[in-house]
Amino acid sequence: MRILFIGPQGSGKGTQAQIVSEKLGIPHISTGELLRNATGDLRKDIDSYIVKGNLYPDEKMLNVLEKRFYEKDCEKGFILDGFPRNVKQVEMLEKITHVDEVIEIHVSDEESVRRLESRVSCGKCGTTYGLNKMPKKEGICDYEGAELIRRADDNPEAIRKRLATYHRETEPILGLYKSVRVNGEQSVEDVSKEILKALGR
Ligand code: AMP
Repeated sequence: MRILFIGPQGSGKGTQAQIVSEKLGIPHISTGELLRNATGDLRKDIDSYIVKGNLYPDEKMLNVLEKRFYEKDCEKGFILDGFPRNVKQVEMLEKITHVDEVIEIHVSDEESVRRLESRVSCGKCGTTYGLNKMPKKEGICDYEGAELIRRADDNPEAIRKRLATYHRETEPILGLYKSVRVNGEQSVEDVSKEILKALGR
């Protein structure tokens, strides 16, 4: 099954995609993660866009994503989190694959900002902490004992810019698909239940 998760920054897309990916046995592909995990010159190029809260150019983004699609674990499908981000990317995606289900995770701008301002994650294992999951010891990962870090683009200026881009460029793509809207302002468990129900599970 090929599934898109669409929602603003801080909507819990990544958390939900991870849960649903384990439940369905298909990989979770986060384009933000793919970009943040790049190294060398590619990483330098990527950082020049993402740290300021700008989108990475469509063609370059597709090059990175296409490589991931060719990996074996994508044969049974995938959950795509963070792509497509605009109408152009929908057109690009449709040329290489088709989509079975589109889930919109809806939260208000106020809630997004509240969540992003408190979001930190472990540089070693990637566990994310925030309002609904605080580490046992402030600033330290429960699992790795490593220092928790804030994403470079989770600063107030970049957050505002990213949300504005979401409304202007990403929301219109919901009109191109038959999507199901899920209320993202519930407990993590309740959001997962709603998503799985929408997917017929
Ligand atoms: P995310 O983790 O989804 O919030 O993405 C973090 C950043 O990576 C975004 O603010 C963009 O700069 C970049 N990015 C992620 N996905 C895309 C995409 N589909 N197209 C362009 N840039 C992207």
